[in-house]
Amino acid sequence: MDTILTSEKLDRSYTIGKTTLDVLKGVSLEVNEGETLSIMGESGSGKSTLLHVLGGLDNPKGGRVHFKGQDVYKMSMPRRARFRAENVGYVFQAFHLLPELDIVENVALPAMAQRTAKGDAKARAEDLLAEVGLGERIGHRPQELSGGEQQRVAIARALMNDPDIIFCDEPTGNLDSKTGEKVLDYLFQLVEARRHTLVLVTHSQEVASRCSRELFLKDGVLV
Ligand code: ADP
Ligand code: MG
Repeated sequence: MDTILTSEKLDRSYTIGKTTLDVLKGVSLEVNEGETLSIMGESGSGKSTLLHVLGGLDNPKGGRVHFKGQDVYKMSMPRRARFRAENVGYVFQAFHLLPELDIVENVALPAMAQRTAKGDAKARAEDLLAEVGLGERIGHRPQELSGGEQQRVAIARALMNDPDIIFCDEPTGNLDSKTGEKVLDYLFQLVEARRHTLVLVTHSQEVASRCSRELFLKDGVLV
């Protein structure tokens, strides 16, 4: 199986005043193309920090991240931003949709930055929304939707640019368990049908066990 993402000995700490908190202490990881990987850990164990570093959003203090053979943190900032937009999708716990845009515009947004023709982007956004069961809600704004529906919009947005890899940070953390399950059904259906690679962090064993491989983040390292 081909490796799509590798991290070598990632270190990341936060310094506030005189105290330094070492969150990641040498995290090495290989992610295979097409797999669904969960990283579990208790609250505060560094899951979000790790996902940000793996996803090209946050410079590690030490170590390296290679994505499709390229050293992510050796790229210039603009190049890394473009690389992220083309290759990576993100789903966050708190949805992060823009309230002033309707849901089609929210989903189409990543393509706008890519200079895709507006009509094409909207058509694709509508198709993706239909695939997450929101075909009837076209034209609505995020705040008119339930939490579960908003997260399905966020999933559609993450898939907009047909990324190789999708990172999910506690994607059902703000949802009740029944709603969360339905959201995960959509997520896994889409990811598996398109053979995207998925890296999902969660504190929930139930959520983690839906992935093909499970790792655990503890005391700053993966076990
Ligand atoms: P998790 O996602 O597993 O709950 P985080 O990665 O968010 O954990 O945080 C790990 C630790 O780092 C926590 O103790 C948290 O308080 C701390 N932390 C996270 N972000 C910052 C920051 N920007 N500044 C200082 N401390 C932070
Ligand atoms: Mg977190």
